[in-house]
Amino acid sequence: MNLKSLIIILFPIILIIITGCSKTMPDKIFFNGKIYSLDSKNNVYEAVAIKDDLIFDLGTSEDLLKKYPDVEKINLKGATILPGFIDAHGHITGYGENLLTIDLVGTNSQTEIAALVKQKSQYVSEGEWILGVGWDQNDWEDKSWPDHKILTEAAPKNPVALTRIDGHALWVNKKALELAGITKEIPNPDGGEIKRDTDGNPSGILIDNAMNLIYNVIPEPTEEQLIETVLTSTQNLVKYGITSVHDMGVNERIISIYRKLADEEKLPLRIHCYVDGIGKTWEKYLKEGKLVGYGKNFVSVDGIKLFVDGAMGSRGALMTEPYQDDPKNFGLMLLSEDQIYQVAKDAIAKGLQVATHAIGDSGNNIVLNAYERAFNELKPKDHRFRIEHVQVINPNDAKRLGKLKVVPSMQPVHATSDMPWAEARLGPERVKWSYALRMILNETGIIAGGSDFPVENPSVLEGIYAAITRQDKQGKPQNSSDVEEFVKQKKWVLSKAGIVNPENFEGGWYPNQKLSIDEAIKCFTIWPAYAVFEENKKGSIEIGKWADFTVLSKDIFNITPYEILKTKVLMTIVGGKIVYKDEGLN
Ligand SMILES: [Zn+2]
Repeated sequence: MNLKSLIIILFPIILIIITGCSKTMPDKIFFNGKIYSLDSKNNVYEAVAIKDDLIFDLGTSEDLLKKYPDVEKINLKGATILPGFIDAHGHITGYGENLLTIDLVGTNSQTEIAALVKQKSQYVSEGEWILGVGWDQNDWEDKSWPDHKILTEAAPKNPVALTRIDGHALWVNKKALELAGITKEIPNPDGGEIKRDTDGNPSGILIDNAMNLIYNVIPEPTEEQLIETVLTSTQNLVKYGITSVHDMGVNERIISIYRKLADEEKLPLRIHCYVDGIGKTWEKYLKEGKLVGYGKNFVSVDGIKLFVDGAMGSRGALMTEPYQDDPKNFGLMLLSEDQIYQVAKDAIAKGLQVATHAIGDSGNNIVLNAYERAFNELKPKDHRFRIEHVQVINPNDAKRLGKLKVVPSMQPVHATSDMPWAEARLGPERVKWSYALRMILNETGIIAGGSDFPVENPSVLEGIYAAITRQDKQGKPQNSSDVEEFVKQKKWVLSKAGIVNPENFEGGWYPNQKLSIDEAIKCFTIWPAYAVFEENKKGSIEIGKWADFTVLSKDIFNITPYEILKTKVLMTIVGGKIVYKDEGLN
């Protein structure tokens, strides 16, 4: 036997020894892909090797397959890999609750809805509430208000409460009326109405503040229900390629459920919690400080979520000048500058973050004033305080965002959702510095992007599309005459423009605020990673970072915006584990 044949015989044994003993071998390789690292040199690779939950090596498929011949191999078949998507502003339990209630959007009759309620009643126990959202009697043949009878018949043993599509009316059954004690004798509450039949008995429709009579008797969810809500939510979020979420406004009960699920390795994605305002949970974290990377880096508590004002749709956003379409109304102030300043000081002292919801220009101004006072006093080295939404901000205050190093957390889809009515609220001047992604990015160099799910669909690809086009999914507005027409009519006229050419994305709503595709992707990767002090752990594909990836069917750097909407998430990988795989993939 010569030396050569001896080596051939011994080779498998040597290999087993090497792979068995060596700590320098990865567990698996994803190869044959187009891997956009989004590192500082924008390197593109074909293959990535993973060990445990970390990126172990990067290179060409040939190199890595040769280097590590005896590990699990996953063929990407030319798919595109990006750093795992991050949503910097969402509501995990809110989204889960929406998914678990009956979706009534688009239903066409009372009978159809009653059938859905009856079906649901077979899966819940007696007495458990059945909830649904999205009915609209304008979609029915008979457009008058419905009454409780058909729902009472559908689920006689369960209270039923179905929210109208606009959230301003509740349709309930008899059981629900009974539990809430709503009888003939109960008067209408302030700011609300109990609809009644000809005898004065409650008919089953409650308007505005009268809805609280029902909400007050819906019990708090059990631990089991909350776990189901969280799992349903997170398991759906990973379908959109989301690998981390900044969860806005959570209490200790939810945080402890996240920790429990992380202990059991059941969370499919990483969660950064911002606690729900001043109160018990906040006091706890002020005492204990940040929770960092609990359960193999799946749960963190980073700071507090505050609200300085309301929303623009309901004219609750706090404005310096009144609303264009409501000249006496300036909106609502929910916290004063002093209150925010006090919280900011407490947070800085403990190394926690403050993330304040601010929509109106006055709201944003107040938050910046409060933050600035606290910064001047305590001189934090690296605070990464945030403003959530930053929807209407004076250009001078946009400059201050940059100067004070406050992270703007914005949702590109809000612009395209609100554009049909935003200008009516704001008028022609203020609207120019509203939803102003470009203006703000120029000042700050960073935007943490999100969707605000369940207010919007959690699709990151839709967020990227909205950021680069400033158009809705039909490609509108396509040009300036579209916009003029819209301002006149206060709504888009789809038929007027005819069939929208999906390849023509010259237009867009205030197109000077568009982002480039590179910037839009950074909004959902490295920038939100920075917003939670994890830019050295995730947000790009580099050796030593966490193996969090989003695998896409198309190379979104090199297709039209319209094709981005047609791109599929093929796989979502968190900490090296495939947490979602498209059904079409084998
Ligand atoms: Zn929100």
